[in-house]
Amino acid sequence: MTDKIKILYIEDNLANQKLVQRVLQRHGYNVFIANDGFEGISLARKETPQLILMDINLPTMDGKQITTRLRSIARFEKTPIVALTANTSPDSRSQALAAGCNGFLTKPINVAVFPTQVKSFLEGHVDELSKGEESEQLKIYAQQLVTKLENKIKELQGANHQLRELDRMKSDFIVLVSHELRTPLTLINGYSFLLKDRAQKARDNGDAQLLHVAEGLTKGIDRLSQVINEIISVSRIAAGTLDLAVGPVRVSKLIEEVMHNQKEVLSKRDVNVKIDDLSELPIIRGDAAQLKISFENVIGNAIKYTPDQGSVHISGRALSDAVVITIEDTGIGIPIEEQRRIFEQFHILGSIQNHSTSKSNFKGGGLGLGLPIAKGIIDAHQGRIWVESDRRDTENPPGSIFHILLPIRQTE
Ligand code: ADP
Repeated sequence: MTDKIKILYIEDNLANQKLVQRVLQRHGYNVFIANDGFEGISLARKETPQLILMDINLPTMDGKQITTRLRSIARFEKTPIVALTANTSPDSRSQALAAGCNGFLTKPINVAVFPTQVKSFLEGHVDELSKGEESEQLKIYAQQLVTKLENKIKELQGANHQLRELDRMKSDFIVLVSHELRTPLTLINGYSFLLKDRAQKARDNGDAQLLHVAEGLTKGIDRLSQVINEIISVSRIAAGTLDLAVGPVRVSKLIEEVMHNQKEVLSKRDVNVKIDDLSELPIIRGDAAQLKISFENVIGNAIKYTPDQGSVHISGRALSDAVVITIEDTGIGIPIEEQRRIFEQFHILGSIQNHSTSKSNFKGGGLGLGLPIAKGIIDAHQGRIWVESDRRDTENPPGSIFHILLPIRQTE
């Protein structure tokens, strides 16, 4: 048995689809239906039909445009494409032919002759335009396409403008909420300080419980402040409003301070941190407080994503006009395809279902803002941050190496 001839019909009207399908199937053809241009082109690629019937008046991409697109695909250069349209005007016919159709049939189809017409196109029949008419129609068609393209661009520009506006409003809202949260938090922080003071006195008098409560409260407040500060930082970076207070910065001292803050986390983890002597590195110019945040995030991650019994090694070297600090861990690693994206806002690896909010835990989660903030600050210093790693593997951790390059002096 020979394979049935495949015909693709691109049409959005259900009644027309059904009628043509029924008539052609009765004559032994295998008919595929697509509702629009994109579906039609993809179905054509999949099935490679021997003939394509094309409605002209379609949404998004009309039949002429679909035909032009199909003709640009080598496989469909010679495939008979027959326009099937309710518009019977001579212009409509010549434009369809100019766009690349081989023939033109009108709707509703004449059931009695339609199969014969389809057969003749399958056998190579072509409706021709005179040379003069063809070039005239091609000119009109090209002009129509450019006008449509122009309108589409305008439409997209409008939509893009609206989306940007919405994005800006959301960012403003986040900043506003963060500031609103920070105000009461400052108040709570003050009271928790007082409470801690009293609790210490109570402990001296034999009541240790209150101090425990006060310390728990302080920890919660610190974490909350950190989250709010991260959100504010990332919003500033995204808006380009991060102002640097530039002065001389000694990298060794910066790292020392960062490690001081990591003490508590390290006391709960079995991760060995080795720091080379960085005191000989040249003093650089930068914003010490901001740079500290960058290093805190990268070193904090190195500890966070390294399983117990692992290690983190911090080293540095001087180039002629810059210093490079390297933070190497024996942690779970980062897949190559994610190594750029982890520096983008809100990008966290793995499912958020597995997200743990404890910062000190192995793999304890964050907001996915740590590295974008680090990068934003380093970029503002005209520096660079990049990572090397093989893959992500919790069983056999391959480790990651983060490099931070900071120019000794920034150019104006
Ligand atoms: P988070 O606050 O979630 O840690 P970051 O922006 O700091 O967000 O990091 C983004 C993602 O990059 C993290 O969710 C983590 O999966 C991955 N990552 C960052 N640093 C390391 C590292 N040293 N080892 C393995 N994965 C890391």
